[in-house]
Amino acid sequence: MSTTHDYLIIGSGAGGAAAAYRLGTAGARVLVLEKGDPLPKDGSTLDPDLVIRQGAFLSREPWLDRNDQTFYPEEHFNRGGKTKWYGAALLRFDHAELTADPGHDCLPWPFGYEVLEPYYREAEALLRVRQFQVESDFARIAAGLARRDPAWRPRTLGVGLAEGILNTPEEARHFDGFASLRGLKSDAETCLLDRAGPTVEVRTGSPAASLIPDPGDPRRVRGVVCADGSQHRAETVLLGAGVLHSPRLLHGYLDDTRLGDSLPCAAQVGRYYKCHALTALLAFGHRPVRDVLCKTALLLHDSLPHSSVQTLGGNLAEEIVLAQAPRLARAATAPVARRAYGFFLQTEDGSHPDNRVLRGPGGTPRLDHDWARLPQAWGEHRRLVRTLSAQLLKLGYLPVVKPIPLAGTAHACGTLVAGVDPSRSVVDAEGRVHGMDNLFVVDGSILPRSSRVNPALTIFAWALRVADRLAATRAVRPAERVAA
Ligand SMILES: Cc1cc2nc3c(=O)[nH]c(=O)nc-3n(C[C@H](O)[C@H](O)[C@H](O)COP(=O)(O)OP(=O)(O)OC[C@H]3O[C@@H](n4cnc5c(N)ncnc54)[C@H](O)[C@@H]3O)c2cc1C
Repeated sequence: MSTTHDYLIIGSGAGGAAAAYRLGTAGARVLVLEKGDPLPKDGSTLDPDLVIRQGAFLSREPWLDRNDQTFYPEEHFNRGGKTKWYGAALLRFDHAELTADPGHDCLPWPFGYEVLEPYYREAEALLRVRQFQVESDFARIAAGLARRDPAWRPRTLGVGLAEGILNTPEEARHFDGFASLRGLKSDAETCLLDRAGPTVEVRTGSPAASLIPDPGDPRRVRGVVCADGSQHRAETVLLGAGVLHSPRLLHGYLDDTRLGDSLPCAAQVGRYYKCHALTALLAFGHRPVRDVLCKTALLLHDSLPHSSVQTLGGNLAEEIVLAQAPRLARAATAPVARRAYGFFLQTEDGSHPDNRVLRGPGGTPRLDHDWARLPQAWGEHRRLVRTLSAQLLKLGYLPVVKPIPLAGTAHACGTLVAGVDPSRSVVDAEGRVHGMDNLFVVDGSILPRSSRVNPALTIFAWALRVADRLAATRAVRPAERVAA
């Protein structure tokens, strides 16, 4: 089978869906090729047993780490990508987080905050970002921390949740790490793909296997071959397969075409993988937790400038505790589980060229990542964990910490970073792969810096901008043709 479109987009997550929305609403014919299927509507995506204990919706794709040990990155292959599962904390990066920070090994963005700002605004509107009232348990903990250490600063937190979600307790308690059944979470599918218009076709269960070069000039991509052998052609191809997968498609293309020898950015493909230093902290208190959403504010600390403390949303902390208990002991564990308040501690990691995605033996993908390459980030994260743990203990909470391992790829970014210098980056400020004619990147792999907060809103904004500029260029073409 063979099809022809204006644009092909590989992947339907945050980046792919935002680009599809923008191009589709501009009238372009777009085909989105998505590896996964739509999620079931039978309630299973809200079932803690399936989602947390069995990991039923996670990828089973094996990877190798830097020591050749097999592990399974916690990737989600489904329509809407990871956004179906995300906690919907939708936050802007700060102005300074788009500039270089050599002391923390952070690369600069190719443009300043003011360039991204209109697209942040558009993304917030499309995803219906709103704030909820801070709930009482969190308010008490935040006030207690601030009393002991005035360097803590609470900050309001925008989330992509429907205003009425509190009327549906099952969803209000299960949004972070679960997929909404009733469209109460603002994900890429419900807010973007479903509203992209009739010219956008999403083909699920269609993993892109390789890119087709133009026979006359491999700097021009003609289309995509899917795993089932179908071929799809377009004027422009956009990579949105995610941080672990887009660089593999580009690696394959560079090898097949031998462009790797001449493309200035080829050696940068796959490098600068980032994932945030992440630790889950469960704080066990005397009283059962009464907050419902839990995720209503975040905490910053003046002496930990690359870090933030968020809460785990809904009753995820309770579900995590219950998941550790054997089935027969679950009822006995429940009273303890209900007393756990969940925190998610994150520190921006810098960019190191050796932290990267590459091909291991036999084509098995490899993620070479070592925190020792980023001592500043790792040091600040350890201080964050120590500081918060000690202060919670003084407030009467028993802290239990769990560092997120390499398989925890929720906040993955980098691997095809944007920049002005092709010898330090892969795509330019427009999202075009340096030296290529019509190949663009719209997912989280472009992030040169990942900031102290979650990445999704910035990925949505980046993709809207890339697609906006593509749509504008295309719009002037017919007029040019008439003039000619
Ligand atoms: C549990 C969880 C909680 C999170 N919470 C938050 C949060 O609160 N706030 C926040 O900002 N971020 C959060 N994130 C992170 C956020 O979801 C991601 O940063 C974001 O979705 C990444 O967008 P993306 O477009 O780069 O990739 P993805 O969303 O991963 O999309 C990539 C898509 O490409 C598809 N694909 C892969 N390979 C191929 C191929 N060969 N062919 C075709 N399709 C392919 C995948 O199936 C997927 O649909 C969370 C993530 C998780 C997992």
